[in-house]
Amino acid sequence: MAESGGFRVEVVSPERVLFSGDAKQVITRTLDGGEIAFLPGHISFLGALVENHTRIYLSDGKVQDLAVHGGFVEVAPDHVTILSDAAELAEDIDVTRARAAKERAEAAMRGEHDAAVEADLRRAHARLSATGGLTHGAAH
Ligand code: ATP
Repeated sequence: MAESGGFRVEVVSPERVLFSGDAKQVITRTLDGGEIAFLPGHISFLGALVENHTRIYLSDGKVQDLAVHGGFVEVAPDHVTILSDAAELAEDIDVTRARAAKERAEAAMRGEHDAAVEADLRRAHARLSATGGLTHGAAH
């Protein structure tokens, strides 16, 4: 168990640990349940994630924002692990690139809708939300 009533949070891909730290809350978005907040002591849970702006409220009072583009969240009373092939820390996100991707996807959606373009738009929204470029609640 992490110190002072928190839990251990890790964001990992098969290749690397993107983030690891002690936290007191994690908010992410699952396929079935929408946005969910996990607190220390939560019962075991396994969920599939959609593209989303994930927030990790750290024990030291800081907040780590991330864009997470699918994957899984595994929760136990003393830890949360997010397993995702595609996730970025907010500080690593290039906002200009994400804005350009959003505009491209929006332009493409004025033509024929297709699932790939919708996914492009959801990734861009998650990136912009994680970097504060979308108002809270606008991204999925
Ligand atoms: P773009 O159209 O700008 O390439 P994309 O959504 O098609 O964006 P992805 O296929 O999701 O890009 O990602 C390809 C790689 O580029 C991944 O490693 C991803 O982390 C990185 N990446 C994509 N967009 C950004 C961004 N705005 N800032 C930082 N890294 C990004």
